[in-house]
Amino acid sequence: MKNTNTCPKCGSRDILKIPGYTGAYGSGNNIPLTFSTVKVHRYLCCNCGFSEEWINVEDIPRLENKFKR
Ligand SMILES: [Zn+2]
Repeated sequence: MKNTNTCPKCGSRDILKIPGYTGAYGSGNNIPLTFSTVKVHRYLCCNCGFSEEWINVEDIPRLENKFKR
């Protein structure tokens, strides 16, 4: 969906990109880490409501640090 701009569920091309952000006290669409947050970007199909969440590749090492066992 991020790459094709087409909804995999219904085939619509009416895709909305909703950028992740971090607001006051960790509000917003993100994953909280100990001293920072990782933003989560959403892609929403305006036709059927399907949504996908994506995280920037450069943020992944910080998630691995925290969540990898
Ligand atoms: Zn759709």
